[in-house]
Amino acid sequence: MGARLFEVRFHGRGGQGAVMAAQTLAEAAVLAGYFAQAFPYFGAERRGAPVKAFTRIDTKRIALKSQIYQPDLLVILDEGLPSIEPVAEGLKPEGRAVINTSLPPEEYDLGVEVECFTVDATTIALEKLKAPIVNTSILGAIARAQDMVPLKCILDAIMDKFGERLGERAAKANLEAAEAAYSQVMSGRCRGERILRKGQQWLPSWEDIPPGVALIVGSKEGVVIGPGSSWQNFTGTWRTQTPIYIQEKCVRCLRCWWACPEGTIKRLDDDYMRWDYRYCKGCGICANICPAKAVEMKRGTKEW
Ligand code: SF4
Ligand code: SF4
Repeated sequence: MGARLFEVRFHGRGGQGAVMAAQTLAEAAVLAGYFAQAFPYFGAERRGAPVKAFTRIDTKRIALKSQIYQPDLLVILDEGLPSIEPVAEGLKPEGRAVINTSLPPEEYDLGVEVECFTVDATTIALEKLKAPIVNTSILGAIARAQDMVPLKCILDAIMDKFGERLGERAAKANLEAAEAAYSQVMSGRCRGERILRKGQQWLPSWEDIPPGVALIVGSKEGVVIGPGSSWQNFTGTWRTQTPIYIQEKCVRCLRCWWACPEGTIKRLDDDYMRWDYRYCKGCGICANICPAKAVEMKRGTKEW
């Protein structure tokens, strides 16, 4: 086995299992005889918020501890992320991408034209796990997109990690999800028409903050700072599922109104509800807590 460093960068949303996917891939790499490390990077640590995770695999012991800026393999767990973040930035020209989408690679615009593997991991996860947690489906697709870690090691690692945490039955459902994704992957070259935003400055410089003043300078390049400014953060862009309100069933108990973590649900004068989808991140708490089943989660971001 010649010396070889292989770096994988995952982009997902809080709750999709990107961190667990990165860890499971690292464990599978170890089972395949490599050295490996995995670690996450959180922005806002909230369900639905964009999340990054990294797996580094090598034939020798790994001393490097930085984030991965030039991945060999890019893994995107939510197909909408490239429209809000330059996720493909730094991907090596000879690199590959694995994307959770129902589109074939030729129809998906990643922003760079590379060899690409697409799979409808959300549909597989909903079918096998009854939840849009796509990490194990995406791991099955990863087995097709690289030649270091075989499917068998990935399945063994899933059984080990998920079995330990969730029990054997749940682990088997996750194995089925990975195997289904492995067999359903479409390969080809994705499109590179989307313009990647380069050199984005994510935080204000200290020089932008007036001396002796709290952070009141407003928003800059998508980062919201300053008190009372949460209304500027459109968490609706994080949504992959949308709650649908069925007013005829609503018993006006107000539970959803209390429970929504984003303040998305407005209480009307007659105690019926109204949703402000600009801020709904699709976490599903309102649907889970509703005793009258007056809220249903539908896949996608459309406001029905
Ligand atoms: S409206 Fe429902 S799905 Fe949307 S953020 Fe609030 S609790 Fe979550
Ligand atoms: S939790 Fe359900 S029944 Fe209660 S107010 Fe909300 S939608 Fe209506």
